[in-house]
Amino acid sequence: MREYQQYIGGQWTGSDQLFDDLDPYRGTVMARIPAGTRSDAARAIDAAAAAFPAWADRPPAEKQALFLKAADIVERREDEIKELLATETGCAGGFAHFQVLTATRLLRQAANWGYLPAGEVIRSDMPGTFALALRKPLGVVAGISPWNGAHVLAWRTVVNPLAFGNTVVLKPSEEAPISAGLLVAEIMAEAGFPDGTINVITHAPGQAVPIADEFFDRPEVRCINFTGSSATGRILAERAGRALKRCVLELGGYNPLIVLADADLDYAVEAAAFAAFFHSGQICMNARKVLVEQPVYDTFIDRLTTRAKSLPTGDPAVPGTIIGPLITPAARDRVAREVDEAVAEGATVLAGGGSDGPCYQPTILADVPAGARIHSEETFGPVLVAQPVADADEAVKIANSTRYGLSAGLITSDNQRGFALARRIEAGVVHVNDQTIADEPQLPLGGVKDSGWGRSGPESMSDFTELQWITTRDGTGPYPI
Ligand code: ADP
Repeated sequence: MREYQQYIGGQWTGSDQLFDDLDPYRGTVMARIPAGTRSDAARAIDAAAAAFPAWADRPPAEKQALFLKAADIVERREDEIKELLATETGCAGGFAHFQVLTATRLLRQAANWGYLPAGEVIRSDMPGTFALALRKPLGVVAGISPWNGAHVLAWRTVVNPLAFGNTVVLKPSEEAPISAGLLVAEIMAEAGFPDGTINVITHAPGQAVPIADEFFDRPEVRCINFTGSSATGRILAERAGRALKRCVLELGGYNPLIVLADADLDYAVEAAAFAAFFHSGQICMNARKVLVEQPVYDTFIDRLTTRAKSLPTGDPAVPGTIIGPLITPAARDRVAREVDEAVAEGATVLAGGGSDGPCYQPTILADVPAGARIHSEETFGPVLVAQPVADADEAVKIANSTRYGLSAGLITSDNQRGFALARRIEAGVVHVNDQTIADEPQLPLGGVKDSGWGRSGPESMSDFTELQWITTRDGTGPYPI
């Protein structure tokens, strides 16, 4: 079994302490991972700070070549990455392919971001003064990445800041230290990224806080780039406030899918099944609630229930599997508990409703009472709440009634009406005549309300650079004293 090392300052570094990385489907140990400590984080920050000036000044063409090379390596290693995603995170083939494809697209697009305008010339009212606003990288960005979209989200955590001239220390989730971290380091090392530009440190389960302590205490770290739960995001935002550091937060969602009465119902059923059950409901953009206009509710729900029951569940490495295991037995038990609680409070199970070994069955619940947690909180499993609505206005009102605002979908055959409704939905992303899950590197993915702040893609330039106002003045004009 492979024992991994951390990647600090261009060196692979062993550790006295290792922990087990588990296969969520089999429950077996798939690799041994360094249980890194706060001092490893300190060394990684030192290395990133040392590498920063040269990386910031490196010509765009040279950075471009590195990103393009990394993209080629990801593409070449696709089969290996997909296998790893299955054994380390329980990810089935469809989502694993999506992760690889999106990572390569991100790298290829970011390769050009070094050529984006680096500021603006702004007219000054001071005679003879030439003024400009110049974009400069921040310094070291600390990335904290999750296990769910392990590989693609790790790339997003590092590529956006690196493309704008920062160096990075990445701390992947303890549930996916390889696919969300060490593999990214391996690929970047192979591509030839300079020592210290990317550093990856790992830690044992439950030991994120000492690493985060180092991130917050060190002045070289200028920004925390986080993707994960709203609960952890809130802790990090509070700490960032105290430390006066920036933070970029892509958090959870309670994403509504609205089906209007004029929708093509066959299409709407496919869209809803995908939105609710892709990656076993473990994507921040999965639909958690489907709001269906009353006249088509019964027909739609009947067809969706049949579709949910047909989804193949089991080993994610087997082609055709749609519903793999949840990331840990504890995660599966939490989903089961939340469903059971809703049922005890009066919800009706239309499909699923139970565990299947390490997997949870694709589940649809109706009549979920307002007091049940699942009625307005993210489940992070393959569970969809179905609710009829009188009309589109009621759907928008319910969609906006949660504390989240990440993604929404609205299925209608009238795009113009859909567009008008989309603008009333409180979410960072709304897809008209489509479902809730999408990610394209050039588009500004991100949330409002408790779903976080900041946007990915080229738009992240504003998060990962400082704007410096520089003036030059001709002559020797008088001052008023
Ligand atoms: P989940 O509960 O789904 O694992 P989290 O938001 O807890 O989601 O995890 C996302 C990332 O945040 C992981 O890398 C995890 O190690 C990290 N993390 C969890 N708690 C903290 C914390 N208090 N400080 C810093 N990082 C944390």
